[in-house]
Amino acid sequence: MGKSLNIYGQKVDIVEEDLTRANLAGYYYLESKKITICKHQDKDQKKRTLIHEFIHAVCHIQGWNQTALTNDLQELICEHFSNALCDNFDIKIKKRAPGKPKARKKK
Ligand SMILES: [Zn+2]
Repeated sequence: MGKSLNIYGQKVDIVEEDLTRANLAGYYYLESKKITICKHQDKDQKKRTLIHEFIHAVCHIQGWNQTALTNDLQELICEHFSNALCDNFDIKIKKRAPGKPKARKKK
């Protein structure tokens, strides 16, 4: 992809790598503010993963890690918001198939 996002004035880079060994669809790296997407996904899956990680980035930049919100709850929020956004804003994205890598935040 080689792109970047502007989230509340902060630059968040997007890169693609092979994450199959880590069994991840993608992750947001807090320290370097970078989203990594597994390159072995189809276009729609990449978009879905990117939206999920984008929400992680927004939450992090807004300081959610300093709240009492657990990582599990943040995962649920990111997953449900990305699903609801895709369903309502005409983003054609397949639901994650069972056994596929799960998008997860990595510290
Ligand atoms: Zn996640």
